[in-house]
Amino acid sequence: MTDLSNLKFDTNGLIPVVTQDARTGAVLMQAYADQAALERTLATREATYYSRSRAEQWVKGATSGHTQRVVSVAADCDGDSLLYRVEQTGPACHTGAYSCFFTPLLEETAPAQAGLDGTLERVYATITERLATLPENSYVARLHAGGLDRVLKKISEESGEVLLAAKNSDRAELATEVADLFFHTLFAMAEVGVSPADVAAVLQGREGKSGLKGPKEVG
Ligand code: AMP
Ligand code: ZN
Ligand code: ZN
Ligand code: ZN
Repeated sequence: MTDLSNLKFDTNGLIPVVTQDARTGAVLMQAYADQAALERTLATREATYYSRSRAEQWVKGATSGHTQRVVSVAADCDGDSLLYRVEQTGPACHTGAYSCFFTPLLEETAPAQAGLDGTLERVYATITERLATLPENSYVARLHAGGLDRVLKKISEESGEVLLAAKNSDRAELATEVADLFFHTLFAMAEVGVSPADVAAVLQGREGKSGLKGPKEVG
């Protein structure tokens, strides 16, 4: 049994829990656990909390089906908060949003990062959230309504545009067309149920293997 004696539960016997999507790194929600909820989480790997409004233990997804399989649990430096890293089924927020944190109080001042790191995962997560909720005015919902074949044709068109932009050495156009290709490819992946992690696993399996010495040429 894990030693919980160094954890600092507050005067109500609760400890804040931050819950993170283990696949995307996104912060999904913040809630509380009492010791029993934490022990249940550790024993079952089902994210379990304590609802302050209902004053009872709460297994995430018990009514909505939007369960969280716990990949890891960590305490912070001074033992007064916890991090659940989870594989989320469906949206984490009871409003149907992917994450509870969709109300900005201060907008970003500049692009948060250079490079792609995490961007594809975030876009994929947005696509799956839109597919789950199909909001009006959503491009993803419109693509979904049009059917997968239309999107596959679109991917083929975007590939052609990537080709052309590269041939013309048009850097701005190439970046735009690659972004279009990535987006529609992510959409097709979401419709078929292939995650960025699945693609990463294939790429990582090839890392360090020379194209010439590897088992087969990438084609
Ligand atoms: P669920 O655990 O998803 O079956 O939802 C059960 C109830 O827990 C909901 O009706 C909400 O009251 C509450 N709840 C679920 N998810 C959240 C969340 N991310 N943040 C706050 N309350 C939630
Ligand atoms: Zn610290
Ligand atoms: Zn702390
Ligand atoms: Zn919420």
